[in-house]
Amino acid sequence: MTITAEDMRRFLMLFATNVAEQREELTRLDSAIGDGDHGINMDRGMKAVLEVLPGIDGSEAGTLLKQAGLRLVSTVGGASGPLYGTFFLRMGTALGDATEVSRAQFVAALRAGLEGVAARGKAQPDDKTMVDAMTPAVEALESADDSIDWAEALTRAADAAVTGRDRVTPLVARKGRASYLGERAAGHQDPGATSTALLFATLRDTFIDQA
Ligand code: ADP
Ligand code: MG
Repeated sequence: MTITAEDMRRFLMLFATNVAEQREELTRLDSAIGDGDHGINMDRGMKAVLEVLPGIDGSEAGTLLKQAGLRLVSTVGGASGPLYGTFFLRMGTALGDATEVSRAQFVAALRAGLEGVAARGKAQPDDKTMVDAMTPAVEALESADDSIDWAEALTRAADAAVTGRDRVTPLVARKGRASYLGERAAGHQDPGATSTALLFATLRDTFIDQA
């Protein structure tokens, strides 16, 4: 099985749709422990990505992801724009100019994206950020060998992201605006970990709906 630019196009379009649908929920979560703009930021960013998608020449998954990343960095002011922008940029860079991406290459690109986010945000595990949802999702894909089919591996990754998101809810945040709240952030679900769980659910649905 190979992953193509067309798959990534469908993924980005579906993510934009899902973010728009969850915009109020993401903003509600960010109102409790941040400044109430996470849904607005993500929706603005993904709508901006949608605008440029038709103009990107079709054959390379990496090019598409890089352009999406650049667009997020340039259109979103909050922390999440540069962080998700870095995620997609690093993924795209890792894929290079491949037109048919293997499953192993794609998982390695997700790992590169995660490392980019962690480096850019200087987030450690348990800082209660998007990294806490992204890390177990990428690990789930890395530990699912080829005997486990792609849809099942992606389902495990999506489930792991939700588990990671929920695991850090009781914690105090150590990065981002929520860290200013100290103990008051404990017990609130992190908005960025929530959008990351949505990203991995979208990745699953991109490939499951195709079958
Ligand atoms: P802002 O905090 O600038 O308003 P958003 O509200 O769009 O940006 O995004 C907030 C989310 O970004 C948080 O819930 C958290 O998951 C994530 N985040 C914030 N700072 C960092 C960081 N340094 N590293 C990783 N993720 C972070
Ligand atoms: Mg915010």
